[in-house]
Order: sequence, then structure tokens, then C-alpha cells
Amino acid sequence: MEAFVIEEEKEGRPSLLFIHKWMEAHPGLSAGFSSRHGGVSDQELNSLNCALHVQDAPANVLENRKRLAEAIGFPFGSWTCAEQVHGKKVTKVTAKDRGKGKESRELAIQESDGLTTDDPGTLLTAFFADCVPLYFFDPVRRAVALSHAGWKGTAMNIAAETIQTMRDAYGSRPKHILCAIGPSIGQCCYEVDRNVAGRVEEALSSDGYTSEWTESDWRQVRTVKPNGKVMLNLKEANRQFMIKAGILPTNIEISGLCTSCNTQLFFSHRKEHGKTGRMTAWIALSEVNG
Ligand SMILES: [Zn+2]
Repeated sequence: MEAFVIEEEKEGRPSLLFIHKWMEAHPGLSAGFSSRHGGVSDQELNSLNCALHVQDAPANVLENRKRLAEAIGFPFGSWTCAEQVHGKKVTKVTAKDRGKGKESRELAIQESDGLTTDDPGTLLTAFFADCVPLYFFDPVRRAVALSHAGWKGTAMNIAAETIQTMRDAYGSRPKHILCAIGPSIGQCCYEVDRNVAGRVEEALSSDGYTSEWTESDWRQVRTVKPNGKVMLNLKEANRQFMIKAGILPTNIEISGLCTSCNTQLFFSHRKEHGKTGRMTAWIALSEVNG
């Protein structure tokens, strides 16, 4: 069953996907992913573009972000985001950081592809168009995290970096952490050069993790085409990095949705040749129900 459940656009509320299973089991938790519908941006950014770094009018982006925040029951002032740089740095966010980056890139948390907080009321957000959103929730320590993993972040193992940051900051234990891997480009559509796949394989293979793997295990992560190009499965690679870091496989939700196969629903950087908008992944604990 698809982990990210879509709720269609209605009465000015954008079309959003929610991790229903988590939200039903954990009142006060909100986690999900926006579609491209229900905003005010036009042309290739039609219509819920949430990122300021693409060629969009800032006023449109802010209106789109406000609509999203309102739809999920958070004040716009709680919207917190970082300047994503395809790195592996994960930043601990406290109440004093709340709202950083909501209206400008300059005021965002700088150079960070992961955010974590235990502050109820801080809405962690990050932006995507094919890259993989990674969600983390520790129900014991009541802490959340959100990371951005393109192939570089995946190969740098930002998944493990996020888990380690939660351990250091909140005393989270991997066996308690729930993870989710959101809509992103699937193995069906993600062709890369051999060296890109090699970087991911190398990182996965450290500490003997893949020493027992058969060729069919490897095919879950990547398949090599006759022309030498590789179809890479970033979702599965991140799932394996999570397991390698001590997350229980039964605690990992994974979306089957490919952004590149579904441009009627999502922005896709690859499919739309870079001329496209960005979706928002979000995770937060609310102050009211927590
Ligand atoms: Zn696809």
C-alpha cells in the first residue's frame, strides 16, 4: 500500500500527500509531501512551486508556502528551511531558529541538507523535484528530522548522518526511530553514469555490509544496461543505508511514487529538463496535540 496518501485539492487548499499511518498512530505529528497543484505560480512552475531559488516571483512562492502551512494547520511563522547544497550536514534546530528561511534564502539555515528538532511547533521543510526526501520520527524522544538526498547526499550517507545527529542531540535510539522515504525519481527513470552508481555502491559496501549480497540483491539497488549506463534506485539505496544504521526494516515506509513518471502530479527536474518548480517535504510536531 502506498505510504503517502493523497488528499485532493479543494476550496483553495492545495493537493497534498500525507504519511497517514504515522499521523493516525501519533497524534500531533504531521508529515507529508506537496504535489504541484493548488498554488499560484504559472507556466512551468504551475502551480505550487515552493522554492525561492527557481525563477519564480517571491510573492508567488510565499503565497504557496502560506497555503501549504495553513492546510496542515501550522502558522506560517513556524516554517523553517535551509539552503540545500547536496551535502551531508544535518543541523539541530531549536525554538530560536523557528521561521528561519520562510521568506528569504539569506535568512535560511545555511548549507544544510538535513534538519532535526524536538521543538513542538517548528515546521521542518525541504524542497524537491526528483531528489529523495527522508523523514525520521522518534516517538520515544518526540524528535523529528528531514533530509534531502540526491545521489550525492545518498552516497555521502546523509541517512546515517541524520540518525547520528538525532542520537547525539536527543539520545534517540535507532531501534525506536521510524523512517519514511518519499516520492522521488524511481529506478524506472533514473539513468546515471557508472561512476555515480559506483560512489553509492562503495558507500553501501563499507564495513562489509554487502559482503553476502548476491547479484539479485544488487539489482534492487542498480541495474547495469548494455550501454554501460546504470539505472539507480536511490530509494532502495537510502533504505539500505537506514538499515545499515540500525533502523528496523519494519519501521521504514517507502513511497512507490516516481516523480518523473508522474509529472501531472509532481515537478520533475529530469523529465522537465530543469525548467520546473519544487515540492515541499515537511515534518513537525504540533504544540497543541503533542
Ligand atoms: Zn519513473
